[in-house]
Amino acid sequence: MKTIDSINFSGKRAIIRVDFNVPLDSTFKVTDETRIKAAIPTLKKILKDGGSIVLMSHLGRPKDGPTNKCSLSHIVGNVSKALGINVSFVDDCISQEAFDRSAGLKLGEVLLLENLRFYKEEEKGDENFAKLLSKHGNVYVNDAFGTAHRAHASTAVIAKFFTRENKCLGYVMANEVASIDKVLNHAAKPFTAIIGGAKVSDKILIIEQLMNKADNILISGGMAFTFVKAMGGNIGKSLCEDDRLQTAKDILQKAKEKGVTFYIPTDAIIADNFSNDANFKESKIREIPDGWMGLDAGPETILMNADVIKNSKTILWNGPMGVFEMSNFENGTKQAALAIAEATKNGAYTLIGGGDSVAAINKYNLADKVSYVSTGGGALLEYIEQGSLPGVKAVE
Ligand code: AMP
Repeated sequence: MKTIDSINFSGKRAIIRVDFNVPLDSTFKVTDETRIKAAIPTLKKILKDGGSIVLMSHLGRPKDGPTNKCSLSHIVGNVSKALGINVSFVDDCISQEAFDRSAGLKLGEVLLLENLRFYKEEEKGDENFAKLLSKHGNVYVNDAFGTAHRAHASTAVIAKFFTRENKCLGYVMANEVASIDKVLNHAAKPFTAIIGGAKVSDKILIIEQLMNKADNILISGGMAFTFVKAMGGNIGKSLCEDDRLQTAKDILQKAKEKGVTFYIPTDAIIADNFSNDANFKESKIREIPDGWMGLDAGPETILMNADVIKNSKTILWNGPMGVFEMSNFENGTKQAALAIAEATKNGAYTLIGGGDSVAAINKYNLADKVSYVSTGGGALLEYIEQGSLPGVKAVE
């Protein structure tokens, strides 16, 4: 893996793809600066070396060209504050003015370009557009893990306009790749993959890949009910993908052949409605009455999960154990998060990835009690499915 540590940026102008796709409120104030702060070590290293920086990113989903709502001008103040120097801004990414401003940068200065996605060419991976962007710098740095699974102009195609010596990954990307690599290729055993969340269909490829790597696969959340029904259980009106029952059976069969232990919940907290105000009670998972649905792990399953987690040396967690957004159905997710934190304390390597498990680990204030919290759910899952990412391959 080629990281920015292998390049001395003295006298160089770096064009960096960052992920500044941050949430804004109705007055265009940044409500979560995590992604901006994450990029700072990469920027500081380049400035410390004596280089200058041109930053490029997308923000939101602009449909038809420029809109104020998606303008990166709203975040210039946040970037300046986080970096501790004044960052300048130009209201286009490929205009003559943009090129004049980047060419005129003095060493130690930083320029932020306007939203790349104001041009449709960005997401199309247009070569000409990528070539134009490449003119902003003489070294290309990719530090946008959140979009590394997309072969867009700024995330992958642009890399071909730089020589091998002049392209690399920034620290955000390098840390993400190192953490996935540790779990997928250098896992201390036993390695447990916890796959939860709503749908089996979203996670089939992941489960199949993980069956080649993990010792244990712990199935949880809504997707567990498709497995339970496939095994002949009564699941009432719990979430189920009837067109995936055979898939679930095939997965269980494959796991047996490969010697991977599958853990499926044995009990659940069931409710008569999908609501925090619903009536709820405990039930065996195979005996859920008609008209009731499973919304959380039951006490027996919580103990089973904690036991597997605490006996693991490597843990990958993707997807909650239940509807943790509702207080009556959060206990399974909360207890799993606490068990993962305890396993980490006892020496396990724990990687949390995928939107909702990250939301859960944050909800219980455990982000600093696990080994690594991935910043890009989609990219992490695709890395596991494909074994690499376009944004990583492009600079290799
Ligand atoms: P995913 O994005 O596939 O990881 O799914 C996460 C979502 O699944 C969360 O919003 C959970 O509330 C939801 N979820 C988890 N367990 C259940 C369940 N038993 N029934 C319905 N939804 C669930």
